[in-house]
Amino acid sequence: MSRILVTGAAGFLGSFLCDRLLEDGHEVIGMDNRVSGQTENLEDAFYHDRFTLYEHDVTEFIHISGELDAVLHLASLASPVFYRDHPIKTLKVGALGTHKTLGLAKEKDATYLFTSTSEVYGDPEVNPQPESYRGNVDPYGPRSCYDESKRYGESLVRAYRDKHELDVRVARIFNTYGPRMRLDDGRVIPNFMKQALTGEDLTVYGDGEQTRSFCYVSDLIDGLVALLESDVEEPVNIGNPDERSINELAEIVLEVTGSDSGITHEELPPQDPQVRRPDISKVRSELGWEPEVSLRDGLRKSLGYFEERV
Ligand code: UDP
Repeated sequence: MSRILVTGAAGFLGSFLCDRLLEDGHEVIGMDNRVSGQTENLEDAFYHDRFTLYEHDVTEFIHISGELDAVLHLASLASPVFYRDHPIKTLKVGALGTHKTLGLAKEKDATYLFTSTSEVYGDPEVNPQPESYRGNVDPYGPRSCYDESKRYGESLVRAYRDKHELDVRVARIFNTYGPRMRLDDGRVIPNFMKQALTGEDLTVYGDGEQTRSFCYVSDLIDGLVALLESDVEEPVNIGNPDERSINELAEIVLEVTGSDSGITHEELPPQDPQVRRPDISKVRSELGWEPEVSLRDGLRKSLGYFEERV
């Protein structure tokens, strides 16, 4: 059994990761300041007496008594709507929060996992994106608070590895969906599910020909755990390479929900990436991981959750 700190524990991915680590027999310390996390996501985790939750902002000094085997830094504002509303918090959690959690990992001699993002590739000029692609990011653009804080975070992780020989992992997470996403998350799948289930028109931004590649949450968690258990210190993409246009996604959501909602087009947010698809050759060969849940199946699995909440 290991003793593991998970930041962003009350968030969408953080809470599923806590559940998984608890099921695997570990002791889990969750940390969240609930800017975007929701305590109800931890209902299952609280059944375990090996779980504790600290309400703490990871941009402030973190004190944990006793040993830690791993520090997993998931705290972040990952939705474009949230990071547009909280750009300074987004920069702080990616930069200062990464610094504080790295300092803690160094102090405890713990393995450190950083959850980076496909946004480090910006609006990519190469599709699919291999880890070696350096990205096309505007440092002063509307998404830069997120993109640049994650790029800085990766750089800080690299520096701790080089300077302090910290054992590190870097996951570049691509679009992920599933139950526990907030209904007001603002990202495309919760928006479309909510709209389809309430009979509102689905809001496709721009011409809807932009693409994303959607990974179901259980696959993503399997990938993170495989990475943690590996010795791969270089960044790896974790995501599903099944690339779809937003128009296609809208049709699939209508089919899965059986909704007769229409589709309306709204303005494309500035600097919305035109394409996004992970090249997963590296994670496939080095970790033997690849996603298993198809988009239709993942949406069907998520349906009950969204139906309950609308
Ligand atoms: N999008 C959309 N309608 C919505 C929400 C998002 O058409 O109601 C589009 C958005 O413009 C982008 C894609 O869906 O092209 C994915 O957006 P999301 O906010 O989910 O995440 P991103 O991948 O941009 O971080």
